[in-house]
Amino acid sequence: MAHVSLYRRFRPRTFDELVRQEHVVRVLKNQIGSGAIGHAYLFTGPRGTGKTTVARIFARAINCENPKDGSPCGKCPACLALAGGSMDISEIDAASNNGVNEMRDLREKVQYPPVNGRYKVYIIDEVHMLTDSAFNALLKTLEEPPAHAVFILATTEPQKLPATILSRCMRLDFKLIPEEDLEKHLIRVLDEVGKKYEKEAVSAIARAGAGSDRDMLSIAEMCIAYSDDLTYEGVTAVLGAADFQETCGLVSALLRFECGEAIEQTEKILAAGKAVGVLVRNILDLLNQVLVAKTCRTAEKLLSLPKELFAAVKNLADRAESSAILRATEIMAKTENELRYTASPRIVLETAIVRISTPSQDLDIDALLVRMDALEQELKTIKETGVIVSAAPQTTDVQIHASERGENSAQPPVKEDRSAKLVQEAEENGDDDLPPPMEEPMFEEAYFSDEPYTFKAHKNENSALPKGVEKAIEEPKPQPNVLQKGNSAVPANAVATFGLFMRTLRKTCRNGVLVTICSDLEAEYDGDIFVLYTDNDTVLRSLRREEHAAMVRQVFEQIGIANFEVRGRNQTAKEDGIAQLKRDFKDYTVEVK
Ligand SMILES: [Zn+2]
Repeated sequence: MAHVSLYRRFRPRTFDELVRQEHVVRVLKNQIGSGAIGHAYLFTGPRGTGKTTVARIFARAINCENPKDGSPCGKCPACLALAGGSMDISEIDAASNNGVNEMRDLREKVQYPPVNGRYKVYIIDEVHMLTDSAFNALLKTLEEPPAHAVFILATTEPQKLPATILSRCMRLDFKLIPEEDLEKHLIRVLDEVGKKYEKEAVSAIARAGAGSDRDMLSIAEMCIAYSDDLTYEGVTAVLGAADFQETCGLVSALLRFECGEAIEQTEKILAAGKAVGVLVRNILDLLNQVLVAKTCRTAEKLLSLPKELFAAVKNLADRAESSAILRATEIMAKTENELRYTASPRIVLETAIVRISTPSQDLDIDALLVRMDALEQELKTIKETGVIVSAAPQTTDVQIHASERGENSAQPPVKEDRSAKLVQEAEENGDDDLPPPMEEPMFEEAYFSDEPYTFKAHKNENSALPKGVEKAIEEPKPQPNVLQKGNSAVPANAVATFGLFMRTLRKTCRNGVLVTICSDLEAEYDGDIFVLYTDNDTVLRSLRREEHAAMVRQVFEQIGIANFEVRGRNQTAKEDGIAQLKRDFKDYTVEVK
């Protein structure tokens, strides 16, 4: 027996065998029931959703002598005649018969009455491929059709049809078939042909079908040819999906921002013969799964991956930020698009890989993230301070003012020093562009206004100067006061301080290279010392060059941090650097721990 493809073998013969499209079927069944058959229909929708199948069932049903619930009975003389192929049902593929001559031919033949049944049905597939003159010829027929003629036009692109044609047809839209319905259908088919299958393999095939029953069954057929039993591994091999673990390793490197590792992994996969387009598709699919696993509680059910694969996806999701996954997806999606127009797909892919894994190169996003982090920290500080002040003992305004003055007696002079120093430096440098020394309007207000003392003063002190800063200013040793409560030993949040540093640097510094280098640094507190870390020796050397060091020093002065260091993560570089560091910052306490 000749091989019959699954799709043809399981092509529905009645409306009830159809997968979904109930909305279309209901309209057609009602028309068959009432005998009110139109003379022109337009079936639109994505490929493989059943347009031609429905057209064929409908064509037989309207000719059937006693249709069962709208479907052809298959037993009456008309059904039997039509089953063997009849002149009464003509299928025309407009993609290959798109000329005016074919349409004229149709116009002539349509005049002859049907041989077996009541109607002559013309199914014109891919009708949008007709030429303009062919459309005109068809239009003539649609305008004055003989009573026995029914036209069913099928197309994936209805927007390409002339309005004159559209207005003469009853339009029915076919929809993509949901994955779970495709799955159910595939399981029915597999049970019938007696194939064993893994649940995950069926899900993978249904997903690959992307809403089209025909596509799904074609893929299933390939998979069955590949191995006797349908396994998930077999299916991914047939679908050309890269080995999951390899893609997983690549995506993991991308989300950990390990540029070198990501490029290495890419090279490895491409060297194994994977096409760039397929790899990009695989990365996108995996990123999508990771995002679903990250955001969705029912991810395991939604993704329906084998257990260990889901565990890998979940692991990736747990370790990455949603923003990073989204950013990677966006860049990859753009890359997929760019691949269509490029002659060097590999370069496009690798550029994308580098962009994803080095977010600091993306100045805008990085800048926003840094600023956002700083803002969040400031907000947190304000909230914390607000609580502290409201919890403070009830005292009169004057008392608080006095106590503030007393406790912070070391502060005003230092601030003056700082301003003075700034001005002095500006004079020395002859630099008029220096930003004005930091003002403390709220601080002044708190001293002189009649308003009751609120947390505004604290807020201002704290938001303008992160907690650690204040500590640095308060020489020789911090006095216990309201502000210091709760964070006496721990210096302020390094992220907030770093955010302040970066903003001030951007405002002050005209050297784009330095700003870029700095935005890449990590910041931590080492005891009282605010430390900027880099694991790149070149960056470290560059930061220690006199003009860069001077600028960094200046910025730290502006934000009032006296204790700071630039360190290499690399131990040897660090030791090398200590001597250099001490020379560079000889006016400051350099503490090596
Ligand atoms: Zn019949």
